[in-house]
Amino acid sequence: MSAIEEKLEVVKKRIAAAKARSPYRQDVTLVAVTKFHPLEDMEEVLRLGVKEVGENRVQELEDKRSRLKMPVVWNLQGHLQKNKVKKAVAAADLIQSVDSVEIMEEIDKRAGQAGKVQDVLLEFNISGETSKYGLPPESLDEAAAKAGMLPHIRVKGLMCMAPMVEDVEMTRPVFRRAHEMWEVLKTYFPKGQVSVLSMGMTRDFETAIEEGATMVRVGTAIFGERNYANGKGETK
Ligand SMILES: *Cc1c(COP(=O)(O)O)cnc(C)c1O
Repeated sequence: MSAIEEKLEVVKKRIAAAKARSPYRQDVTLVAVTKFHPLEDMEEVLRLGVKEVGENRVQELEDKRSRLKMPVVWNLQGHLQKNKVKKAVAAADLIQSVDSVEIMEEIDKRAGQAGKVQDVLLEFNISGETSKYGLPPESLDEAAAKAGMLPHIRVKGLMCMAPMVEDVEMTRPVFRRAHEMWEVLKTYFPKGQVSVLSMGMTRDFETAIEEGATMVRVGTAIFGERNYANGKGETK
């Protein structure tokens, strides 16, 4: 077994155990976060049964997409600049990081030009940390109503990140609030459309699943530490 295979097995077991503790009995999709890791690592987890990958930067996603010869669902989850939206719409299956009304409108515009309806998640900054991107939680109703009026985006759910804290238990209130907001978000869209609650990363995915996450985004626990100095540019 390779190192990645071993780590992936451990992550899958931890996901299964957390699901068993969750009162929501939800299915959980694993997004393997491949940013700053080579294409070969992505290919390996796809061979091992992973169906979705996540990247933070449009250019890295495009680059890997052009070289990968295997089917996969591409998630884009990093803060998006307006001038990258056109490329993001062309390359991403699900844009998880809709963190402002301005970006929402730009995605709608570019998707319209491309003749596409873009699946998105609304990202909320639930902990209110100034270092984090995301719509303010108070704007949930406004953002949902706005998104519902844009014909070229389809809101599939909500994404959030918990604060980085020493005691992972401190993330629980954030995930719980996200779950409550997700239930409200559902009421704005046709039944069944809002099905994704994307929360939980390496340090906190088990808590997120216990609080109802249907999608976890895990990088380090599968691939090890990222090497930011490998010539692929700055991180976000
Ligand atoms: C990098 C990143 C992840 C994965 O983080 P790990 O701690 O390596 O699991 C998940 N979500 C987002 C938005 C990220 O930027």
